[in-house]
Amino acid sequence: MIIYLNGEFVPKEEAKVSVFDHGLLYGDGVFEGIRAYDGRVFRLEEHIDRLYDSAKTLDIQVPLTKEEFAEAILETLRKNNLRDAYIRPVVTRGVGDLGLDPRKCGTPTVFIVATEWGAMYGDLYEKGLTAITVSVRRNPAEAMPPNVKSLNYLNNILAKIEANYKGGDEAIFFDTRGNVAEGSGDNIFVIKNGAIITPYTLNNLRGITRHVVLEVAASLGVQVNEQNLGYFDLYSADEVFVTGTAAEVAPITKIDGRIIGNGQPGPITRQLMAGFTTVTRKEGTPIY
Ligand code: PMP
Repeated sequence: MIIYLNGEFVPKEEAKVSVFDHGLLYGDGVFEGIRAYDGRVFRLEEHIDRLYDSAKTLDIQVPLTKEEFAEAILETLRKNNLRDAYIRPVVTRGVGDLGLDPRKCGTPTVFIVATEWGAMYGDLYEKGLTAITVSVRRNPAEAMPPNVKSLNYLNNILAKIEANYKGGDEAIFFDTRGNVAEGSGDNIFVIKNGAIITPYTLNNLRGITRHVVLEVAASLGVQVNEQNLGYFDLYSADEVFVTGTAAEVAPITKIDGRIIGNGQPGPITRQLMAGFTTVTRKEGTPIY
């Protein structure tokens, strides 16, 4: 495996970062998760834009232009002979001292890992996932905007730990006001009476898969409403599903012991899953 690290392509064994890197010491950095399908990188520009927006919010200056970054991603895929892949670009604050002050850090560290990674939830795309609403709340935007895809994923990891202990395949977060926010690593959607309802993007990450699924829904003529949701809306939904680059479109058929709909992935979810697959196979930035 070949890794891009600070402008060079190095074997995995040589891809090392300093223990003084603030990405490691403080989670001070940003990242993306991107997929390539059949020789093309899906929504590359949107991912790079979000990476730079996250970095801007944290006042990290990415030491590459967006075009250079895109090319570094494509070249990482080429060096690894990949056509279908999960890609993880990371930009950290860089190497500093043991204090917090970002001004003491040098140039940001940049690395890109690309690897094969098939369907994240295996046979659960057919069976449906079991989800648990967790007691830990999504970071409020007033403290740390969930729109920033930062290296500090402890909030999400706490949610995942709670779901793991309670037998869930995925966690569902509420925000501090009691509104449904998102999954630990994906956006959430409810279907009721033929319409899709999904939370506004203030209490969650503005997912790129979410965006694509909303486009697919529009092309299918399915109505979409963005609004606040409570747990009543989850339990009484006809269908529930989550979306993310890693998870893709994944049906949820049980939440906190309640069977959702008839306990099977629902018809609209299935249409959206198929529509998403079609889109991912027909567009994207060519690698070769
Ligand atoms: N929410 C969180 C917390 C995530 O980590 C992710 C995965 N990046 C998503 C939502 C989904 O975003 P996307 O569709 O852009 O991968």
